[in-house]
Amino acid sequence: MRRSSRTPATAFFQYDDTGATPRDEPFLAACTDEQWRSIAARCARHAADAVALRANLQGSRRPRALVAGGGLLGLEAAHALHELGVDVTIAERSTRLLSRALDERASDMLRSYFESVGISVRAEIELAAICGEDRVTGVRTVGGETIACDTVLVAAGMTARRELATDAGLRIGRGVIVDEQMRTSDPDIFAVGDVAEFAGHTWGLWTVAVRQAQVAATVIAGGDDRFVDQVPKTTLKGCGLYVVSFGSVHAEPDDVAIVDEDWAKHRYRKVVLRQGRVVGGVFLGHDEDAVAAEQAVEEERRLNPDDIARLGTRDWTPLRADPVAIS
Ligand SMILES: Cc1cc2nc3c(=O)[nH]c(=O)nc-3n(C[C@H](O)[C@H](O)[C@H](O)COP(=O)(O)OP(=O)(O)OC[C@H]3O[C@@H](n4cnc5c(N)ncnc54)[C@H](O)[C@@H]3O)c2cc1C
Repeated sequence: MRRSSRTPATAFFQYDDTGATPRDEPFLAACTDEQWRSIAARCARHAADAVALRANLQGSRRPRALVAGGGLLGLEAAHALHELGVDVTIAERSTRLLSRALDERASDMLRSYFESVGISVRAEIELAAICGEDRVTGVRTVGGETIACDTVLVAAGMTARRELATDAGLRIGRGVIVDEQMRTSDPDIFAVGDVAEFAGHTWGLWTVAVRQAQVAATVIAGGDDRFVDQVPKTTLKGCGLYVVSFGSVHAEPDDVAIVDEDWAKHRYRKVVLRQGRVVGGVFLGHDEDAVAAEQAVEEERRLNPDDIARLGTRDWTPLRADPVAIS
């Protein structure tokens, strides 16, 4: 490995054991084989990797990091780097942050919050290449722009490692394709968690993995259970703003969405009602209402018209009250 006279800047890649080998990932193709060998590129698998990243950054005088990926991990990592005094830019490929979990307004407010604390957010930016030979000097985007930085942290999701399933002749998509009982294309083989693809989704979330494992265990034991695919509860932690979404976050044509927002304080609360029942919510701040709304979703609680009207006047106490006894 070539050594730089300065602290070597780094490229870090979020990765877990079910993920593909680093070089398989399209966004990691941004890093050439030569760079992969020569820059301090590594996958963030263990606490020691995070400690190494911090040490690298603390060795720089004015560290600048680019975080590729505006999902949960990218945002949490960006905020943690910012707290270390790093000048951070988030580069998100889609048009907005947490695009699967938040509606557009909440997403925009989240971006506004990150910018208000001093983290720069760039949407619709895709990495094409990492610049630098023995150290990172920046990234080049697909659009041809160069963004200077000395650390790149990629938090752009995971891809299932598929070799074993391919060798077994199983149907493969992004992951190992399963049915609602977690059976692969071979009925004697089950797959759950990050490696499994159901209805075109590999969510990469612990809650989903646990639920899928429950379904598979029940079915293998001779029982009947089915996995229902829905956008999982999403919680953003450790960023100074409590963000949570669950259930249906987008109102369908006959639904009622009640929204209350305060841009100056970055506080947002929204519930979606379907035939009077609470079916989903999005909350930035408003921790107590979020807990109450989540419980209402779990209970499929129905609100009476008076209570719905009160929510519309920013009085959210009906959500916290006991369920209304209407069947
Ligand atoms: C940095 C990071 C932070 C995360 N934070 C959150 C979070 O806040 N909330 C959340 O819901 N999710 C989070 N996740 C995602 C969550 O960890 C995963 O969705 C969950 O662990 C998936 O469980 P799993 O059993 O499918 O895979 P894993 O937990 O990765 O377990 C797979 C196991 O299989 C083993 N294995 C792999 N190949 C083989 C083989 N061929 N033979 C035998 N064993 C093998 C591996 O060694 C590993 O022990 C995070 C992930 C990462 C990487």
